[in-house]
This record gives sequence, structure tokens and C-alpha cells, in this order.
Amino acid sequence: MMVGLFRCQERVLNDIQHGQHPRTGQLDVASLTVEQAQQELAWLAAQLHDANVAYHTKDAPKISDAAYDRLKQRNLEIEAAFPALKRADSPSEQVGAPIAEGFGKITHAQRMMSLGNAFDDEDVVDFDSRIKKYLGVGADTALRYTAEPKIDGLSLSLRYEAGRLVQAATRGDGTVGENVTENARTIDDIPQKLADAPDLLEVRGEVYMSHDDFSALNERQVAGGAKTFANPRNAAAGSLRQLDANVTRTRPLKFFAYAWGVLSEPLADTQSGAITRLNALGFQTNHLTVICSGPAEMLAHYHMIEAQRATLGYDIDGVVYKVDDLDLQRRLGYRSTTPRWAIAHKFPAELAWTKLEAIDIQVGRTGALSPVARLSPVTVGGVVVSNATLHNEDYIMGRGGDGQPIREGRDIRVGDWVQVYRAGDVIPKIADVDLSRRPVDAKPYEFPKTCPECGSDAVREAGDAVYRCTGGLICPAQAVEKLRHFVSRAAFDIEGLGAKQVEQFYADGWIRTPVDIFKLRERYGKGLQQLQNKEGWGEKSANNLFDAIDEKRVIPLNRVIFALGIRHIGETASALLANHYGSWAAFEAAVTGASVGEGPEWEELIGIDGFGTVMATSLITSMQQDAERASIDALIAELDVQDMVRAESDSPVAGKTVVFTGTLEKMTRAEAKSRAEALGAKVSGSVSAKTDLLVAGPGAGSKAKKAADLGVETIDEDAWLTLIGDA
Ligand code: AMP
Ligand code: ZN
Repeated sequence: MMVGLFRCQERVLNDIQHGQHPRTGQLDVASLTVEQAQQELAWLAAQLHDANVAYHTKDAPKISDAAYDRLKQRNLEIEAAFPALKRADSPSEQVGAPIAEGFGKITHAQRMMSLGNAFDDEDVVDFDSRIKKYLGVGADTALRYTAEPKIDGLSLSLRYEAGRLVQAATRGDGTVGENVTENARTIDDIPQKLADAPDLLEVRGEVYMSHDDFSALNERQVAGGAKTFANPRNAAAGSLRQLDANVTRTRPLKFFAYAWGVLSEPLADTQSGAITRLNALGFQTNHLTVICSGPAEMLAHYHMIEAQRATLGYDIDGVVYKVDDLDLQRRLGYRSTTPRWAIAHKFPAELAWTKLEAIDIQVGRTGALSPVARLSPVTVGGVVVSNATLHNEDYIMGRGGDGQPIREGRDIRVGDWVQVYRAGDVIPKIADVDLSRRPVDAKPYEFPKTCPECGSDAVREAGDAVYRCTGGLICPAQAVEKLRHFVSRAAFDIEGLGAKQVEQFYADGWIRTPVDIFKLRERYGKGLQQLQNKEGWGEKSANNLFDAIDEKRVIPLNRVIFALGIRHIGETASALLANHYGSWAAFEAAVTGASVGEGPEWEELIGIDGFGTVMATSLITSMQQDAERASIDALIAELDVQDMVRAESDSPVAGKTVVFTGTLEKMTRAEAKSRAEALGAKVSGSVSAKTDLLVAGPGAGSKAKKAADLGVETIDEDAWLTLIGDA
């Protein structure tokens, strides 16, 4: 028994070191219940917090980088699948860790950010197209980017006033860092004085230790009976963050400059120009920094750096791309913790070969049949993997198109040896098939034509890569998934009615569709008490549940739309719809009256910023389907759906209805629209008596005329920018 217990603890410890939750960590995110997801998120937040403290505050990491990345990725995945469960202290919103005791605090004059990640070529191409789209430049225009190694050290911000180093601060949590000024002064690569520098200049870069210096330091540590460091980065961090600067002085630290914070005058017009200028001012800058025009060159440079990685003499963990033009950087701006104009392209994850034992089919809320590879367990990057996603039929058949086969013409069969990898996604993927090891009797996979859960036909519509169960609400898999979604945090979030209870009620036949939830008291008030023995329901708990349900009869519009669980209409899309239409009546009328692909309702729908044709089509077809519609109408009759209230803003355009027309020269439509909406304005696609303001660029035609006829105020782009304070 003792042995068993010990083993078990050891396993748990291993799981944690490998970045996996001991109970639910191996499950696909899609198969987690809300409770499991919530528990795992709490666990992840605690693990990541501990890991951050060990790593950033104590410089003694407890888990590997790979395990850390896995925890972080898993957290992102779960948050993406259960947006409503995202914690207030979500690790995904945090940069680094709180500062250690013993150091003075410095509030950064400008936040120190983190970087978004790219894991493969496609992510880099997407990065480039995202930027072009945001800026409104044509897909065939080549934007210039800098590409440089991502140094694996710790970032430092150096403040120079009148050319003198006055302050050095670590990143800390991005807002507040540690005062390590005296320590920074001991580093040779950091100039104490600058000639010809802007009056105020914050230089940012990476403190690191070379491989040779790291080995020598560890040897000295051993000789002196002191602790050794796990890797050069921890050695660098531990050495810089010494309370006694004299200790730092004995440590061979180096510094590369690659960025800046506040400054009294610009360093240059471009990222590359600024790097050159930093170099001229006396900083070390990385010699592998180049300018690339577009993804092809970026990727070529990435592979060049990757090939040199082992011989550089210091650790790098990827390549960072940045938009070269600083004016464009300014326009692109930031997301919560990362710039839109930069991305870190990480070096790839580990790979492993294993046997494909079986292909299982899972049925989701929207009826999609998802094939899952069951694998002989194999360790990939320290984690035991036994499932991988197979995407869809085309993927399995090696057919290409949207299916993105592992290789055109190469299909995947049960019994095959497949190569598994874990890149950015927590859910492992298959990278390759070894045809030389294919069993002679292996047969091409035949995708099921019926739903494994309800036996209804599964059909694949033209243009769709996915088979869907046609069973709708008679399909238990879909019905239960829909109900689970309906009661999830971002939807109705009814206290005491979680995924588990909903499943139980479904199994007992008490709830089939969402509206049944609101009929529970009326229909089963008595029966629920009888359920007492079985499920622990007493009269009191039943009444508490009914009260909690009644409380949610009054509910904001965006939650209702999201709760419907319409394919492609997630939390963000629901909020966009709710904000745009304002009330259930307006929303319902618009969607009911709309036709796919034509007419004013359609135009209005796809005109909503952030809303596309796929979402619009899905919304219309779903809401116009009879059974679905009846179920929605019955639900709405039980509810008091709250209209949306516009966010308060003191901008002069708040609450105004604005129309943009003609060519905008300083920004794209998308940019103009999101800016206006952020300030509380409502952006409309057409001029009417309700329009308050028309912003007309060159080439404005009928709208400008109509505005003039209606007496709507019309201004040009510059006047608009002045009005909103962006000039
Ligand atoms: P992360 O902490 O993984 O989000 O990555 C962001 C960090 O990468 C920054 O805070 C820097 O410390 C580091 N970094 C290393 N090299 C570069 C570089 N060339 N440009 C920007 N950041 C870099
Ligand atoms: Zn089914």
C-alpha cells in the first residue's frame, strides 16, 4: 500500500512538472465539463503563479520551459473554449510576476509588453495579412519587417536623462518592475553616459549570459559550494537581481538593445533605423537583425537563424518580427499585453512517432462529427500523448483544400505509424505518416455517414469540410451540448444549474431544450422534491434552484444571443450583434427578414464591423429553421430580455450615429469604425434622418448628396480626426 501511495504521489508530481493537470490534463479541452474546466483553470492559475514566482522572483525554476508553455497554452485553450470561466487573475493577462521583496519598485513610464507567438509558417503569413488588413493596404503590397533573434534572457529598461544612466528596471509585471540600477551599472555592455542622445531616453533590451560564461559560472559555483543554475537565462536573472551589486559585478552579464520606452525625441522613422541609432549610441545590437519585405523573406531568415542557433554561443528561443515603419507601429497599437505590430516566431516543438490505434468520432453542440486519433501513448516533449485531432474527412484522406492534409495524397489509416507534435496547441496534431511501416491490410478510412450518438444521417454540405448530424434536438449529444452551453458562464449562468445538473435533468427527461429550464417549477415542483433521495434535492434546494432560474429571466441581450449556441456566433459576435441591434425585437426582426447574400438586412448584418458572411449565413439559416425557431420563440416568451445600453464616453461623438463614405486616407474603414465605436458612436452603413454626422472622404457620392438633402452635418477626414482628438 505504501508503495502504491508513493507511486501515485510521484505520478502527480510528474504530471505537474510536465505541465499537465493530474486528472483532467489529458482530456481534450472540448470534452471538459464546465466544472472540470473551472477547476483546471484554478489549478493552472495557481501553478502558473507558483512557476512565475519561482522563475521571476526567485530565479529558481521548478518546472521546465516546455512544461510552463504547456500550462500557459492549456490555459489559453480552456479560456477560448469557456470564455466565461476566464478568471479575474487569468494568467493570460499577466506578464512576468510581481517583484521580489528587497528591491525598490519602479513604475514604468511606458508599459513593458509581452509578445504574441507564432508557431509555424502559416501563423507568420497570417500575421502579415492581419496587419495589412488592419492597415487597409492591398494583399500584394509588401510591408517591411525587421527580423531578429529572440534572446532568451530577461528584459531590462534603462532610463537616460541628459545622456546619463539614472535608472534600470526589470520588467516585473510589465507595469511595475524592480529597481536594479546599481546592478545594471556593473554590466560592461550598458553605457553609463551617452553622447548625442535625446534628453530623455529609455532603452530596452535583454540581459543574457553566454554559454561559455554560464559553464564557467556554474563551475565556480560548484567549487564554492554554492547552488548551480539551471540554464543561462536563470543565471542571468539570478545574477542581475542580486541585492548586493558587488555580486552582480562578478557575474559576466551581457546586454542587447532592441527597443525603447519613453523618449523626448524619436530615434528614427523605422525600427531598423532606431536599432542602428542605438548601436551608434554605444549599445550592442544583434548582428542577425535584418529587414525583410514580406513573409517569404522572414521565413528564410528564420530558417537561417535556426540553422545557426547551436553555434551562436547564447540561447535564443525564436525569431521576433516587427513592422519596420514606426508610424505604422503607432497605428497598429497594442492588445492587452502584446503589440499588434510584432510577433515571436518560436522554434518548433518536439515530435514523436507512434501507432494510430483507432479513429473515434465525437459529436459537438453544432452536430459536427470530429474525428479523434487514439494513439499508443507516447511522450512528446515530456508529456504523454494518447489523442490527436484529425480535423475532418479531407484531412484524413490526404485530400487538401481546407482540410490541410499532412501531405497531399497521403492518407491516414488505422494501424499507421504517425508522427505527433505539440506546437502552439495543447491538442496534439499529426505531422506525418510513415508509409514504409503501413500494415499490408490497412484500409483507407471510411468516414461514418451516420451519427454515432443518435444514428441520424450525417451529411457533409458543399463547401463544408465537416460532416454534421442531422438529428438536431433528437440527437442527445447535440442536445446536451447545447444545454451545457446554454447554462455556461457567459450565457445564462444559473446558480446551481451547471453542466452536471443539466446532464442529469436531460437523462431524467425533465429538460430537453432550454425553455424547459424555465418550466421546471411549474411542471416538476413536486417531483423535484421526490428526486431528493436520488440526487440530494430537498424542497429547499429545489426552491433555491427555481429562484435562481427566475432570477435569470431578466437577462441582457448579448447573453441571450450567445446562449442560443448558434454555430460561429460566439461571445464576441453576440456582443457585436447585441450592440448593433440594441433590442431583441430589432435583432429578431432583422434576422427573420434577412436573406442570405442579398437585401438590406443582409447588407446591414455583414456591415457590422467584425462580422463576416460565414457568421451571417449561419445566424440566418439557424434562426429561420422551423424547429430551432419554435424553440427560440418559446424561450423568449419566458424571458425579459434587456436592451443594450451604450457605454458612457465623454467624447463629442458618443451616442452619435456616424456614417463614413468616400476614400479615407489616414486610416481604413475598419480602423475608423472601431475607433468611433470605442468612443461610443454608432457606425451605420447608410445615411438616414437618424444620421448625426457624415464623414466624407474624396469620391463620396450618393451618401454625401443624401446627407446634404437631409441636412446632416458633413465633415472631412481631418475634421473628424480633430473632433475625436486623434489629429
Ligand atoms: P514573452 O515574455 O515570451 O512574451 O516574450 C517577450 C519577451 O521577449 C520580451 O519581454 C523580451 O524580454 C524578449 N525578447 C528577446 N529578444 C527580443 C527581441 N529581439 N525583441 C523583443 N523582445 C525580445
Ligand atoms: Zn446525432
